[in-house]
Amino acid sequence: MRFAGYTAIGRFERARVAVPAAGEAGDGRGAVLDIAFLDGELALSRATLLAWIETIARAHVEYWHGFTTTRVLLTVVPVPGRPRVVFGRVVPGGGVSAMLQVGARASEADLAEDWILPHEFVHTGMPFVQGRSSWAMEGVATYVEPVIRARAGLKPEAMVWREWIDNMPRGVAALQNGLTGGSPYWGGGLFMLLADIEIRRATAGAKGLEDCLRGALRAGGDATPSERWPLATWVERCDEALGAPLMTGMVERHLGASITVDLAALWRDLGVRPDGEGVAYDDSAPLASIRKAIVMGRRAG
Ligand SMILES: [Zn+2]
Repeated sequence: MRFAGYTAIGRFERARVAVPAAGEAGDGRGAVLDIAFLDGELALSRATLLAWIETIARAHVEYWHGFTTTRVLLTVVPVPGRPRVVFGRVVPGGGVSAMLQVGARASEADLAEDWILPHEFVHTGMPFVQGRSSWAMEGVATYVEPVIRARAGLKPEAMVWREWIDNMPRGVAALQNGLTGGSPYWGGGLFMLLADIEIRRATAGAKGLEDCLRGALRAGGDATPSERWPLATWVERCDEALGAPLMTGMVERHLGASITVDLAALWRDLGVRPDGEGVAYDDSAPLASIRKAIVMGRRAG
C-alpha cells in the first residue's frame, strides 16, 4: 500500500463535528470531522476537547473560506503523564486521517496555546508534494498556522510577529542552502513570509499568500489524492489564482540558490521590532501597509 490512513480498532468513543467545506467540495455538502477518542485517561473532558477541535476547525473555515476537505478522521490518542498536546501527524490519500497525541495532564490553557492541531489541519489543505519538497508543506503549515489563529481571534497579532522575530533566524541557513538543507519548518516559513510580501507588493495589496493557498486547494489540491503532486503543479495552481507567475518566480530565485536574508533589514522595512514581551510597530516604515495585511488580512491595511 502506497498510502494507508490511520485506522482505529478496539475501544474508542466517536463524535462528529460538521463545518462548511471549501472549494469544489463546497457545493453545499459541508465537511465532516469524525473524531475517535482512544481509550485512556485524560484530565480534559471529551466535551472540552470536542469544543476546542471545532474552534480550530472553524478558524480554518474562516481562513480557507470553508474547511479544507470534506471528510477527516481525527484520532485522539491519550499520552499518560504528559501535559499539553504532544504530537500530531496527517496521513494523505483515500480520505485524510490525522492522529493527535494529547497529554493525560493537558489543561484548557494548554489547548489555548497549542499550535500542533492548527498546524496539522493546514496539511489537510495542501497536496503532499513529491521529492525533497517538505520545505513547501512544512513552510506553509509553520507560516500560516499562527495567522489562522490570529484571524479567528485566538492569538494576538503582536504575538505572531514576536514569534516570527524570535524564530525566523532558524530558517536563514535553509535559504543559504537553496532550501535543500536546514530546517524545512523555518526555512520554508521564511520563504513563505518572503513570498507573501512579494505577492502583496506585486499586486499592490490585492492578493496575498492566502489567495495562492485557496486557489491551489480549489483546484483539487487537498491532502486526499493518492498520488503526490510535483511541486511545479502546486506552484502552477497557486499562480493561476494569483493571476501572475509570482510563486514560480520565488521558487526559481530560491530553490538551489544561496540567498542570505537580512532579517534585521526585513523587520525594519516592515516596521516591527521586539518590545518587552511583544512588539512595537513603525507605521512610517516602507512596507508597513503590507505588514498590516499579512497577519489580519488585507482589510486591516
Ligand atoms: Zn507539519
